[in-house]
Amino acid sequence: MNIRPINSGLFYKTNYTAALTGQQTRAALPFANLHSQPQTDTVSFKRAPSQGSPFVHDPRELDLHCGCCGKLMLKNSAVQEFMDKKVYYPAYIALDKIKYEQNFRLHEQPVPMQKAYSFIKNEANRHKHLSMDELMQTERVTNYRRNNSKAQYKALAELRDRCRAVTHSIDYLVDEIGRLNPDFQKTEDTVFQEMKKFAKLYPADSISNIFTRPDIREQYLIKLQNKQNAKLKKITPLIQQLSPQYAKRANNALMQSYGIFNRESSDILHKRQRVIDLFDRALAPMPFETPTDRPVADLIMKRLESLPDSKNDANAFIVKYAPRGSNKFVEVLVKRLRNTKEHVKPQHRKGDNGESDKKNYIYLCGKCNHERMTQKYDEFIERHPQMPQNTQNQIDEICDYINRGILDDHDTWPNDIKEPLGDESEGLIVINTDKLDVEAAKKNRSTKLEKHIEEQKRKNQEADTLMTGPYRRHGKKYLNV
Ligand SMILES: [Zn+2]
Repeated sequence: MNIRPINSGLFYKTNYTAALTGQQTRAALPFANLHSQPQTDTVSFKRAPSQGSPFVHDPRELDLHCGCCGKLMLKNSAVQEFMDKKVYYPAYIALDKIKYEQNFRLHEQPVPMQKAYSFIKNEANRHKHLSMDELMQTERVTNYRRNNSKAQYKALAELRDRCRAVTHSIDYLVDEIGRLNPDFQKTEDTVFQEMKKFAKLYPADSISNIFTRPDIREQYLIKLQNKQNAKLKKITPLIQQLSPQYAKRANNALMQSYGIFNRESSDILHKRQRVIDLFDRALAPMPFETPTDRPVADLIMKRLESLPDSKNDANAFIVKYAPRGSNKFVEVLVKRLRNTKEHVKPQHRKGDNGESDKKNYIYLCGKCNHERMTQKYDEFIERHPQMPQNTQNQIDEICDYINRGILDDHDTWPNDIKEPLGDESEGLIVINTDKLDVEAAKKNRSTKLEKHIEEQKRKNQEADTLMTGPYRRHGKKYLNV
């Protein structure tokens, strides 16, 4: 199947697998859970949860700095809205665009696809503000998918993937990302600067087309290879310090690593991890090691961790994500700064699960959260020495939101989180909650609530006046006639 003219196979594979495993679907995102209150109205999930309340209940909806890297994070809902409204086209347009952009000829399609298309196009026309992903979550579409053939179910998934690939020009996307005003980390900022550069050269083209052009891609590949080779080169003197039998094994791993980086096709993934695994296998079992072998081996493994990857190197990012399509490229870039819940005690650590409860959350950007995984904080802090200070800054920030009566339901949170943070970090993160002022919070909240109620009353009265005004009179007159 041919979704995109360039690297279509790769694109389709990634998205299709994702569709099958359910990754990337809105339902899998924490935000969706927050908003998926009873869906009586087919589009009810679109409305903000805090309507009707003057308070914020979820710290992901506040302007907060990451508890690890300290960058100003993007509000969770702002990122979601950015993806739905700015990156993806409304479904009714995307469904037309796939016809000429992807050569999708409806009359040549099998019957289930034709049926699925005509159903979803009809739905898209009814909800012109919804993207394909949003449309797929409406009650009518969910029911349709449930009650029709497997072939139609698959056809709808294919149409969703096709619509996801319909993209805006680089010029437009650079502009829209700029409007979000992200406080990017270094790697992401470099990627963004590269995008800006090409937006000036080829404004109407797509991110994916530009960065997968052989001549342009080649430049990033060469830079990436140079960095990889330089890192490997730095390991050579360390290998010479090992005792002979281990030096031989490490040297073998080194030669194979040069091969992986320099001779294998650039489409092959996970090269960095394979290199690390090679050395891990060569150096892990060392029954005859001398006292100097172990520290040297550890140092080699540590050096390998700094091999470039898409998180710490812009070239690696561009090489990895450009073939996956422009929208995915933008999504990964922007979601790295999204405000996410971090389970202090990890959710998925064998035999030692942390709860999914705010008593176990701090707030990290998508990038730091992903990097931490299930690591203990004392290890994690080795690479992020600024974390204890930035976590304290976040506690202070949240205390301030509580005190000002903005954040509700979190009065006990600063003290609840003290112990888990201390435990996870072996005492390296010691939190001070002196800034919390529950009395002020209560006072400010009740003032806020009073104001809110006044405002609601005033609005209702205004609406009443309208109804008793010309409209009502006109209505009555009409009825009398
Ligand atoms: Zn961060």
